[in-house]
Amino acid sequence: MNWVSMEEQYSSGVYAKRGLAIIRGSGATLTDSNGKVYIDCVGGQGTANIGHAHPRWTKALADQAAILLNCPEMFSNDQRALYMQELMAVAPPGIERVFFCNSGTEAIEGAIKFARVASGRTEIIAAKRGFHGRTFGALSATWNKKYREPFEPLVPDFHHITFNDFNDIEQISTKTAAVILELVQGEGGVYPIDPAYLTAVREQCDRVGAYLMIDEVQTGFGRTGKLFAIQHYAIQPDFVCLAKSIAGGLPMGAILIGEKVAKFQPGIHGSTFGGNPLACAVARETLKILEQENLIKNAAILGDEFQQALSAIPSPLIREVRGQGLMIGVELKQKVAPYLKQLTDLGVLALPAGMTVLRFLPPLVITREQIQQVVAAVHSVLAVA
Ligand SMILES: *Cc1c(COP(=O)(O)O)cnc(C)c1O
Repeated sequence: MNWVSMEEQYSSGVYAKRGLAIIRGSGATLTDSNGKVYIDCVGGQGTANIGHAHPRWTKALADQAAILLNCPEMFSNDQRALYMQELMAVAPPGIERVFFCNSGTEAIEGAIKFARVASGRTEIIAAKRGFHGRTFGALSATWNKKYREPFEPLVPDFHHITFNDFNDIEQISTKTAAVILELVQGEGGVYPIDPAYLTAVREQCDRVGAYLMIDEVQTGFGRTGKLFAIQHYAIQPDFVCLAKSIAGGLPMGAILIGEKVAKFQPGIHGSTFGGNPLACAVARETLKILEQENLIKNAAILGDEFQQALSAIPSPLIREVRGQGLMIGVELKQKVAPYLKQLTDLGVLALPAGMTVLRFLPPLVITREQIQQVVAAVHSVLAVA
């Protein structure tokens, strides 16, 4: 069967396709419909931190599916209660409560609603180049015109300031409900935040009584070498949005809520699938796997080695290599698309971030040998003889 042409016939058309059908995964590798094996640096777009088809994850999923799948939040549940407790035990300082949902954009959407209702203010300040999702609230916080313009008018009272620019911080005022930031801008091109800038934003939020909302949808669950990227800094967030790898690739999202935010009234927000026992059981196992298999440390150590090896590639095509842990971008002086294609031919799947950045988001189970193979492939594609 030709899966590529079958999808081409029936799909909505909103996705740019690579002309490749992936039908199986194991650890940090993927297999296509012709049996060709690739080293996976797409990582399910950052959802596969524990790797593909992890046996412990698969067992947790099957076990819980046979016990109880859905349990509306009007009832409590053992898996949900335990996951809440286990997640709070490892959450960033000052985090006290959690709301569960099903995706990244939903976590952002809910956090925006929470910030508005808790502050009694409406303005949300986001950063230029930021990406926060595609539903209307999250899209209003997202910067890229390509995603926004076809759907205007968006939600009112969203503004964008320049990421890492201290001069713009004074735009955060007593009108501001919340400031929302990524700690490494992912889709925008893999730009890490300046720690002094983050501190200054936190101080300004405190001065004017605005909440600081951190979007860890892509950076969370070990990606940057800490369980949460905010743990690289001495900063206390008021909201942290999570999704992608939270349940090892099963759809789930969460909003972590800080001590400055009062408990909400029943009925003010909700989700049918949010906090279902299947997602919670699998998220519990995912957290255990991350910790017990040293995957967070692996991301820190191998991430540094990977970045150094990429930086050492002698190529006039490379403008800059940047990132944190196993979230790495190679900014080229040219469009990235043809190089992604050449890497695919060499058995390496990677992502773009914007037009010119080659992005690597491998599962954190990737080995040193696999990284060396990726670096060799990037070298052969980018080095001009
Ligand atoms: C992927 C992503 C989102 C959106 O998550 P979805 O699950 O695709 O809705 C939001 N913020 C960041 C930083 C992301 O990387």
